[in-house]
Amino acid sequence: MARKSPVYPYLRCRSFGHSWGDPYIDTVRDREYRARTKLYDGHQICQDCSQCPTVRRGFMDVLGSMYSGCWSYVYPQDYRWTSEDPMKRQDWRRDYVRIVKLTRRQS
Ligand SMILES: [Zn+2]
Repeated sequence: MARKSPVYPYLRCRSFGHSWGDPYIDTVRDREYRARTKLYDGHQICQDCSQCPTVRRGFMDVLGSMYSGCWSYVYPQDYRWTSEDPMKRQDWRRDYVRIVKLTRRQS
């Protein structure tokens, strides 16, 4: 029997992006922010990827604006991909459709 080579566990997210779940307030970061700033002008918001352990987080003010306009990302330790050839999103997708048999259905 041929040995299967280990598949990079984050291939789907690298290929098609993360699948963000419902946003929630990170109470620990919220408490730290309030203790540090003494401000009650928003919340530390997080979202978990439903396909991998990546979390994105950012500060959202009471008007719904994200602090500095963007999220920060917390990746699992083995998420980083090191190779002599840098992989673009297109390369990840190419590998994904080679490795994973896509389902077919009528839309
Ligand atoms: Zn993901």
